[in-house]
Amino acid sequence: METYKLYIDGKFVDAETGETRPTINPATENPIALVPVATKGDAKRAIEAARKAFDSGIWSGMNIKNRAKILMQIVDKLRDRQDELAQIESADAGATIRKTSMMDIPIGIEHFKALVELGERVPTYEPLPWIDMPAISWNFVHREPIGVCAGIIPWNFPFMMAVWKIAPALIMGNCSVLKPASDTPLTALEMAKTAAECGLPPGVLNVIIGSGAVVGEELCTNPMVDKVALTGSTETGRHVMKLAADTIKKVTLELGGKSPTIICDDADLSIAVDGALFGTFFHAGQVCESGTRCFVPASIYDTFMERALERVNHIKIGDTSDWETSMGPVVSQSQFKRVLGYIETGKKEGARLVCGGGRPDHMKKGWFVQPTIFDEVGNSATISREEIFGPVLSVIKYKDLNDAIQMANDSIYGLGGAVFSRDIPKAIEIAKKIRTGTVWINDYHLLNALAPFGGYKQSGVGRELGPHGLLEYTQVKHIHVDLALNRSKKFWYDYILND
Ligand code: NAP
Ligand code: MG
Repeated sequence: METYKLYIDGKFVDAETGETRPTINPATENPIALVPVATKGDAKRAIEAARKAFDSGIWSGMNIKNRAKILMQIVDKLRDRQDELAQIESADAGATIRKTSMMDIPIGIEHFKALVELGERVPTYEPLPWIDMPAISWNFVHREPIGVCAGIIPWNFPFMMAVWKIAPALIMGNCSVLKPASDTPLTALEMAKTAAECGLPPGVLNVIIGSGAVVGEELCTNPMVDKVALTGSTETGRHVMKLAADTIKKVTLELGGKSPTIICDDADLSIAVDGALFGTFFHAGQVCESGTRCFVPASIYDTFMERALERVNHIKIGDTSDWETSMGPVVSQSQFKRVLGYIETGKKEGARLVCGGGRPDHMKKGWFVQPTIFDEVGNSATISREEIFGPVLSVIKYKDLNDAIQMANDSIYGLGGAVFSRDIPKAIEIAKKIRTGTVWINDYHLLNALAPFGGYKQSGVGRELGPHGLLEYTQVKHIHVDLALNRSKKFWYDYILND
């Protein structure tokens, strides 16, 4: 079993206490590797290394083309390691090998590449229009890196989330300290191993494995950190924002969701039913923008349910290393208990359990939960309000589209959602009325590195991906250049200086 190390200041080191702990495969409950347990002191050392690297200008002052060259070498080397990384991600996160091989790793690498390429093109010089003032001046905005950016990421898409934090920070000239989720630390450390081979100057990237309460809090409070970007639960987001307030850090938050899927009565049901199931059950429902509330019109409700209950049987739960398996376990025992707790609450509150509801009979080990569907659910039931982060779908009947849109928006969250209809102009009008950061029409889950992703309401602050996401890693500086160079024209100096 491999023992991993922390990556600090360009070196792979043990935690200062020497302590390690196992990381577990959620499908087998077996340990797969040992990882160091970083302390506050380790976090401080990583932050200091990033600060030193940033302030030296070795990275922020490097021409962006040269930064991109180094980052593209990382991309190329990650590509060479794709199969190996897919195996590690599958074992560490309980994701199916089908998903990590087809999606998490290859798409994560493509996102890395796309973000670096886009970073090279994002304008860091913005000319300002003529400013009506007596001075004859040239005014422009210069975008520059923020400084030391901390990235704190969750366990659902560990590799992809690491990419989303590292690539934008580094291409825009920042230095980064990344803290993966305690449950899924391995692929971020593998990424550090690859980065270390590509000539990244020491301190530009640091990866530390430790708990949110210890390492995470240091990252959110240390005055040497300029920005914190968290992907995690809304509860952690609230806390991180408060912690970051004392030193007025920039904060971007990608948090939880309870996203709506609105099925219209004119939807193509072959796309809509499978889309609703894909939108909820992909990665056992552990996706922040999952469409966990599905609104179906009364006129087609029975047909929709009949088809959904047939199609859900085509999801194959089992051994995550088997290519045929399409759904794995949830990430940990605590998440397993949490999901089963919500299923019990759903039943107690009177929702009708129409499929699933517990551990599949054939999976005695591992944190597996069946795809679970409740119908006759109210939008105000606990299972329709709170993020479950497991394979549980609430199907909610609606009278008319206004009713559906009103219920869709009646949530503290605003991350994703979908509309299924053959009438595209109508679907776009509905999409505009849904108060979330992403709406798919006749599809689900497809995220694009060039399109901004993030939440309204309590689903987050700021955006990741696309030009909007890259600019979140820059400071805005206004530069005013006097072009007249003539003291006698500068009458405003005379406000305080008498002749
Ligand atoms: P979580 O408990 O909020 O953890 C996320 C990260 O925050 C982990 O690295 C965690 O460290 C760290 N953390 C925990 N407490 C902290 C603290 N006091 N200070 C600083 N950092 C702290 O979330 P999760 O359960 O891992 O992930 C699931 C959540 O992420 C869901 O709510 C999901 O919707 C959300 N998510 C959102 C997006 C999006 O883009 N909007 C994407 C994916 C997931 P430990 O692992 O050590 O606890
Ligand atoms: Mg694990």
